Amino acid sequence: MYATLRKPILKPPKEKYKYIIVIDTELCDGCQLCIEFCPENVLSVSHNTNTRMLHYTEASHLENCVGCQSCERICPTAAIFVHKEPVE
Ligand code: SF4
Ligand code: SF4
Repeated sequence: MYATLRKPILKPPKEKYKYIIVIDTELCDGCQLCIEFCPENVLSVSHNTNTRMLHYTEASHLENCVGCQSCERICPTAAIFVHKEPVE
């Protein structure tokens, strides 16, 4: 019976973050796995190549990133990682 009365008075504050995608272009093999697995279509293939003449990934729509880290987890060469910063 008391369980229905035990509601929080204030909603918990929403945490807001911005995400920065860091890509080591020399490590990137251009396999596009991160692009395929990104749910928000943040990533795309760059027109530029690295020293191995491979087209690396770039974050072309960073504003859509939700920080899910799928790209980071799927990358076989650990070339991409997600940096999380709190927004004031
Ligand atoms: S963290 Fe998620 S949404 Fe952001 S680029 Fe990686 S896969 Fe896409
Ligand atoms: S998964 Fe890794 S190696 Fe493959 S394109 Fe993305 S960053 Fe490059």
